[in-house]
Amino acid sequence: LHGYFGKYLHVDMSTGTLKDYPILDSWYKRHIGGRGIAARIMLDLLPPGADPLGPDNVLVFASGPLQGHKIAGGGRHVVVAKSPKTNAPNEAYVGGFFVHEVTTSGYDGLIIVGQAEKPMYLTLLDGKPELHDANEIWGKETSDTEDALIEKHGKCHISSIGPAGENGVIFACIISDRNRAAGRPGFGAVMGSKNLKAIAVRGHTEREVFDKELLQKARVEYAGGLARSKDMQAFGKYGTPGGVPYLNQMGILPTKNFQKGTFDKYENITGELLYDDYMIKRDTCTACPVSCKRVVETEYKGQKVDPKYGGPEYETIGAFGSICLIDDLAAISLANQKCNAYGLDTISTGVVIAAAIEATEKGLLESNLIWGDADIMLDMVDQIATRTGLGDELAKGIKHMADRFGEEVAVHIKGQEVPMHDPRGKVGFGLSYAITPRGGTHMEGMHDSMLERDEITPEYGVSEPISRFSWDKKPEMAVLYENMRSFTNSCVLCMFTTQMVGPGYNFSTIRKLVHATTGMEISPEELLEIGARNFDLLKILAAREGYTRSDDGLHPRLMEPLPEGSSANRPIEADTLNEMIDKVYDIRGWDHFGPTDDKLQSTDLEDLVGVIQR
Ligand code: SF4
Repeated sequence: LHGYFGKYLHVDMSTGTLKDYPILDSWYKRHIGGRGIAARIMLDLLPPGADPLGPDNVLVFASGPLQGHKIAGGGRHVVVAKSPKTNAPNEAYVGGFFVHEVTTSGYDGLIIVGQAEKPMYLTLLDGKPELHDANEIWGKETSDTEDALIEKHGKCHISSIGPAGENGVIFACIISDRNRAAGRPGFGAVMGSKNLKAIAVRGHTEREVFDKELLQKARVEYAGGLARSKDMQAFGKYGTPGGVPYLNQMGILPTKNFQKGTFDKYENITGELLYDDYMIKRDTCTACPVSCKRVVETEYKGQKVDPKYGGPEYETIGAFGSICLIDDLAAISLANQKCNAYGLDTISTGVVIAAAIEATEKGLLESNLIWGDADIMLDMVDQIATRTGLGDELAKGIKHMADRFGEEVAVHIKGQEVPMHDPRGKVGFGLSYAITPRGGTHMEGMHDSMLERDEITPEYGVSEPISRFSWDKKPEMAVLYENMRSFTNSCVLCMFTTQMVGPGYNFSTIRKLVHATTGMEISPEELLEIGARNFDLLKILAAREGYTRSDDGLHPRLMEPLPEGSSANRPIEADTLNEMIDKVYDIRGWDHFGPTDDKLQSTDLEDLVGVIQR
């Protein structure tokens, strides 16, 4: 099989052993890469019931077949480990430049197990792996860590944790290239628990591909399509923050801890304003012509917001803005900088602060937190990262807050803080929220608003617009889009580049790219089969940890009618949601626990029959 080195670097932090971990060709044929290969590794190496912050947890940095070849959208990797938030294997996708170096270093990815006795860091420079004492960089913020390692080892790309990961903040993340976060499931805490401060990588050896000429053609076709697309040009200009007015207009801009879907001061936090008044340039990921990343320079009450920390995405603007009723982009940019420096997930941090504000307002918590106060919000970010004052409570995450202050104020799904997408105006998206083993994630399902556009994905026969409020065909659509996304997540291709090029998804070129690199010719049907198979792996991993159908659903707040705006007065009825979830289980061939043995046998997963204890 072309396109892969066929091995991961296996690092045992307990013993300091570095060895090759071979990946079977049959795994690549069945699972492609990314989430699929990482899940196979987890099934192989992670004992069910392992402590997420103990030595038995397995931390995987995975690539797909499209990394290392300067393909637009391919500057992306996925980190997989058992999450301390959801207590099951979970995923964090991250863009930038780090993975290009890994996949030109002789390895398709990295596996970290064990727990070192003292802080260490890993280098993989010019193909040579080595562990080093990290005493001098332990305690440093992420950017300072990068500076120190680049000074010592020369040009390289780095993934590191900051003080938040060292301090075991449950939603700490891993930061690459100073401003790209492997956020959400708390993998900064996992990396910290292993006493691994950083990974520095530099490579020069491209993976051998099946057809160089075809790759060049497909690469130009893909990047050219992105560069020519008017939609992508607009997206690149305003980035994800460009969505703020649109979501407010749809009545689903999460506001005041999900109590509302419209923010009366949304005009102060738009992508356009960020572009006009705060941005100094756009940034990109490896070989991507879209350049949707923000780079801002500003000041908030004498504190400098440094361009090296990038700028806030839509999710960050929602999490520190509308959800906390804050309308100051300089303060939000500073919160973003603090999170990148400390290694904190911005969504989780904003949502736990909003929950604490509401708990205070309701008399469930004694604190100085109030809606709309940026100074107090910023102070709380410091307290969370350093685990001082109330920050020590918040650092334990949203589930802890639910136990401590009541489920009502702590908006989460399976222990994962809900991101900045409200299902009350996108019901199919809510269905994916309710079902995915990853908990509250915006990186899994479809956005119903896309289904309202004409000619959505003709390759899969989706050509009729469907209302974002309608449940009609939503189980079928949710599964279809989850499987498409699961495939692109297995290629680890940036989701923004997979859509918006002409009508719907851009799968014919993506299939061409996979053919050119690996030699595998994948039909549209096989693409969905691979996506579904890899989604099933995630479900099996969750089932091993005790998750069942009974754990699926939405937080009660996300089912109440919104009080105002274009999505007002449309509650999500529990009976309807349950009926839809059951339909998805039927379509997927799942019983109460996950894929049935028949399903496993018919989808080339017969070796996993018996893994789920029913
Ligand atoms: S679209 Fe944006 S996030 Fe995606 S690869 Fe390009 S620059 Fe990176």
